[in-house]
Amino acid sequence: MSNALRPETLALHAGFRKDPATNAVAVPIHQTTAYQFDSTDHAENLFALKELGNIYSRIMNPTCDVLEQRMTAIEGGVAALAVGSGQAASNFCVLNLCKAGDNFVSSTDIYGGTWNLFANTLKDLGIECRFVDPSDPESFRRATDKNTRCYYAETLPNPKLNVFPIKQVADIGRDLGVPLIMDNTAAPLLCRPFDHGAAIVMYSTTKYIGGHGTSIGGLVIDGGNFDWEAGGDKFPTLNQPDPSYHGAVWTEAVKPLGPIAYILRMRVILLRDMGAPMSPMNAFQFIQGLETLPLRMRAHCENAEKVAAFLNGHEKVASVIFPGLQDGATRANADAVMTGGYGGLVGFELAGGKPAGKTFIDGLELLYHVANIGDARSLAIHPASTTHSQLSAEEQLQTGVTPGYVRLSVGIEHIDDILADLSQALDKA
Ligand code: PLP
Repeated sequence: MSNALRPETLALHAGFRKDPATNAVAVPIHQTTAYQFDSTDHAENLFALKELGNIYSRIMNPTCDVLEQRMTAIEGGVAALAVGSGQAASNFCVLNLCKAGDNFVSSTDIYGGTWNLFANTLKDLGIECRFVDPSDPESFRRATDKNTRCYYAETLPNPKLNVFPIKQVADIGRDLGVPLIMDNTAAPLLCRPFDHGAAIVMYSTTKYIGGHGTSIGGLVIDGGNFDWEAGGDKFPTLNQPDPSYHGAVWTEAVKPLGPIAYILRMRVILLRDMGAPMSPMNAFQFIQGLETLPLRMRAHCENAEKVAAFLNGHEKVASVIFPGLQDGATRANADAVMTGGYGGLVGFELAGGKPAGKTFIDGLELLYHVANIGDARSLAIHPASTTHSQLSAEEQLQTGVTPGYVRLSVGIEHIDDILADLSQALDKA
């Protein structure tokens, strides 16, 4: 399938035409653990990676493979790996490059679960995360030293909703030989981070890609655009013999296959050793979700735009946080990388502070009160009393959470119904 096709078409067609065994048009759910080898030679070749094929579903599965191919085509990458959650994807992205004693630099504007992984769990493994302020792209350069293995950031991080300066930081990284990993969870189809210099893209597919709140999953996509070999000793996991694979050097081993050293190593080492594969059933759900993702993203963006405009003029609302309402450098960052809309997330601050925030949430009748984002349904949360309640007041402010802040993940219901629910809940707040 040609990558010249448009995203709407790729979302329906890339990576699969029909099942070769049955001619089924829907992607089959290959609910199998293992795959019969044709012969002992065939088995030996598969294990030695002389031939690529299915061995065991912890490492590869034909249903997951379709999702991987489809997302690779949509993002303009070279190969992908489906894993069991967005958290597993973030974890693998870093562990694929960092060993104990290494460091990496991350934007401070990231999902709280990723923050915990980076600040605590990876620290316990001897990997240091250096957090820097993304409003100053040069802070990435200043935090880099000879042991820095990668940069990490989110395209559209909430609650601040300041779009990350992808090109500026990717350029700094390419100057210093450091790849940029982008979490594009909140902006699928709206932003293609590879177009702006990112080396790796990851997703929590749990959100917009699934779109229906049914399944947990994650994806990592390799842009195939980073010269790992040029980094030499900086990337020992890819450039030095791997004792767990008969001394394979991944950048050498992939030469007949293309520039897939990063993602192949993640599959055959991290997935093999640490587990966390995506289940075929969930891959099927994500493939279903992908089919309508272009339509849904359009509706999310249109509705979010209208919700932001409505809140912007409301007497109970002190401020609205939405990329389309920003100006200056943050707006320029958004316009540089996002096309087709500014996403489905809208934040706003109630003039009445924390009590008003809680009353507003309790007053909602249509919108769900949940911690999730990216569902087809509209969702709301009051971070100061929930997701950010363990932080001090000062830390809350640093992350962009004021006492009266409410986060909306605007869904695809009829806009009049969403606005009516917001309006009646605001009347109570
Ligand atoms: N990245 C972002 C931006 C998220 O919002 C989340 C979850 O909320 C994750 C990663 C983690 O994904 P998962 O919940 O699928 O493990």
